[in-house]
Amino acid sequence: MLTNDELAKWDRENFMHPSTNLGQFARGEGSQRIITGGDGVHITDRDGNRLLDGFAGLYCVNVGYGRTEIADAIARQAHELAYYHAYAGHGSEASITLAKMVMDRAPDHMARVYFGLGGSDANETNVKLIWYYNNIRGLPRKKKIISRWRGYHGSGLMTGSLTGLELFHKKFDLPLAQVIHTEAPYYFRRKDAELSEEDFSAHCAAELEKLIQREGADTIAAFIGEPVLGTGGIVPPPKGYWDAIQQVLTRHDILLVADEVVTGFGRLGSMFGSAHYGLKPDLITIAKGLTSAYAPLSGSIVGQRMWDVLMQGTDEYGVLGHGWTYSAHPIGAAAGIANLNLIDSLGLVENAGTVGAYLQKQMKNAIGDHANVGEVRGEGMLCAAELVKDRDSRSFFDPSEGIGGKVVAAMLRRGVIARAMPQGDIVGLAPPLCLTTAEADTIVGVTAESLREVCG
Ligand code: PLP
Repeated sequence: MLTNDELAKWDRENFMHPSTNLGQFARGEGSQRIITGGDGVHITDRDGNRLLDGFAGLYCVNVGYGRTEIADAIARQAHELAYYHAYAGHGSEASITLAKMVMDRAPDHMARVYFGLGGSDANETNVKLIWYYNNIRGLPRKKKIISRWRGYHGSGLMTGSLTGLELFHKKFDLPLAQVIHTEAPYYFRRKDAELSEEDFSAHCAAELEKLIQREGADTIAAFIGEPVLGTGGIVPPPKGYWDAIQQVLTRHDILLVADEVVTGFGRLGSMFGSAHYGLKPDLITIAKGLTSAYAPLSGSIVGQRMWDVLMQGTDEYGVLGHGWTYSAHPIGAAAGIANLNLIDSLGLVENAGTVGAYLQKQMKNAIGDHANVGEVRGEGMLCAAELVKDRDSRSFFDPSEGIGGKVVAAMLRRGVIARAMPQGDIVGLAPPLCLTTAEADTIVGVTAESLREVCG
């Protein structure tokens, strides 16, 4: 076995890591951690640390680590049939079974599921399907996609454009011209402190209406949003938000894409965020929770009204020119089946609701009154603490102080992984859905101690 020093050197010299400060890492200044194993909500690293993963990887290891049921299903599939493509009507028992399981869980008005590899490519598929749909309908001008500031939809060319975070645009010449952004439904950061949640939702809908009027409804194809803003800060929608937004979209014949890469398959304590908040999407993006990240797999669930037009399109123009080599990969599908079965048999959707509510309540009790905590918020097994310089004026720390990152680093020293969300001083938590109340207590205790260490 390689020594830690050798591995560390190879890593710095050969491996270009995603979302990493490249220069710092190559010079040995940035942090480096080599993960060796996982069990339940814990991971272990080469230095012998055992860490409670309060972010489930990248909010994806929903059933927790070390599930032999999924590992065995993957191994069985690899022995039987590691790969065959899904083009031109080909499939495997695994991919067909998983499609049925996904559709059994999806809202009633959804018609089919297309499988990809990750959340970014699934959203890329969605945009292509939307453009195709409006071309078939004879509306070639109706192509722009509206996304929200602080939304996260991936980091490809189109999906990085849909993402409404500065880091993902800066120096990449993004966003592309077909993407426009509207206000984030971020009640805590509203400009007018006097607005109620309902009034703020009405304000967001009015802003959307204004944008549509300005651009022309005949140029706008779709609106994409996560049921709960994730990477943008873990922000549940203000009361009435989705109702108000959907009314505007319906009025202007604009499709709704619910990006459920984080919320799909139980994270909010409901199977889908769409059901949780009464959304009626035309497309649902799924990934992470579909396989709990045991293998890469994503999907675009297509609603009936789009499906009818897609079928009309291929009747008129032939084969749909869209597919990946690894679409519906049998190993991913086998992982997905075992994962969804585990979610059901362990009651993880329910556990996400009850233990998630407990986590949030205990977090509020422990740090809600701290002078530098502006808000503790969340939904299901998503929780965030937003740090502020001054609570009354809701004024923020200078980003160069990196306060959120310092709290998260202090938590790591105490054995708990949280995530410093990329825009603002926000400590993010999204543990595996199998978290127990005792583990929730550990997270809360460590957060409180770390906050006191950094902020006093
Ligand atoms: N959509 C949402 C809501 C996400 O949170 C993510 C990733 O975090 C993506 C899309 C992109 O998924 P991937 O990183 O698998 O491409």
